Amino acid sequence: MSPINISIVGVGKIVRDQHLPSIAKNADYKLIAAASRHGVVDGIDNFKSIEEMLAAVPAIDAVSLCMPPQFRYAAARTALEAGKHVFLEKPPGATLSEVADLQSLADSRGLSLFASWHSRYAPGVEAAKAFLASAKINDVKVIWKEDVRHWHPNQDWIWAAGGLGVFDPGINALSIVTHILPNPVFITSATLEFPENRDAPIAASINFTDANKLPVSAEFDWRQTGHQSWDIVAETEAGLMVLAEGGAKLSIDGKLVHDEPEQEYPALYARFAEIIKAKTSDVDLAPLRHVADAFMLGRRKFVDAFHD
Ligand code: NAP
Repeated sequence: MSPINISIVGVGKIVRDQHLPSIAKNADYKLIAAASRHGVVDGIDNFKSIEEMLAAVPAIDAVSLCMPPQFRYAAARTALEAGKHVFLEKPPGATLSEVADLQSLADSRGLSLFASWHSRYAPGVEAAKAFLASAKINDVKVIWKEDVRHWHPNQDWIWAAGGLGVFDPGINALSIVTHILPNPVFITSATLEFPENRDAPIAASINFTDANKLPVSAEFDWRQTGHQSWDIVAETEAGLMVLAEGGAKLSIDGKLVHDEPEQEYPALYARFAEIIKAKTSDVDLAPLRHVADAFMLGRRKFVDAFHD
């Protein structure tokens, strides 16, 4: 099969850090165009909008949509209507319903839609899933605490409605939890802390359970300075499992059992090529559903204003 002619929309931080190097290294793809209001990618044709790009470059087979989630649906619909396969950065949209609508459209046109969850491809995740499948689990704690000023400086969209606030990183934890636990979980209570001057939360405490009453808790906080935590800790009858550093390192009872270099975005692009070749889609909405449930069931608390 000849390479998939791919294009990128929304040239910002994650495109430069991850998408461009991952596409460049994968022989299944040829990057032929980009659309962004300000950003440009060297060495290819650049356009200001997706409409302009699709009209000018009919050879495009697929588009990666990397703008903030509130602006992704319209672009995805435009791409699917033009007959292109679509890669959605995480979270796949601002609402569950708009992503379901995209899935119907992709299905009706025989196109591939990919709701990407990069953290699921962190090196220790599959080994953690295998460990938890073999052990009786007593308790799970998720601790996702980072410094928003360091990781998201001046990203106004992230604080706007639909930008998810602390759930922007938190949904990465949820994408892992929903993949590695043997049974589906659901939220029983939550507290969301909103800065008084923002429309999205800066912290969230969430309790989940499953059909077997497994206690699962998650602490998301963006006010963490110093040590940053992206850990999932499971107490099991086969030992204490710690999946640390966003899924990169797995240890059991303090012994490091899995520590490999991170390859999340190369794996995402490999998966996208795979579903295009198989003429199928990969859209798991479970992580986004939990975020929606937290907004639906969560208590709201207003806290000090946040200024970048
Ligand atoms: P970003 O740099 O702030 O935004 C990406 C680009 O989207 C912007 O540079 C902007 O380019 C374009 N854009 C289009 N419409 C926009 C609008 N109305 N408001 C603001 N920007 C708009 O964000 P990012 O960090 O790359 O994140 C983009 C997506 O990737 C998010 O969904 C995020 O959750 C996900 N992601 C980010 C990271 C990370 O480490 N940063 C990691 C994994 C996933 P133009 O101005 O040129 O149009």
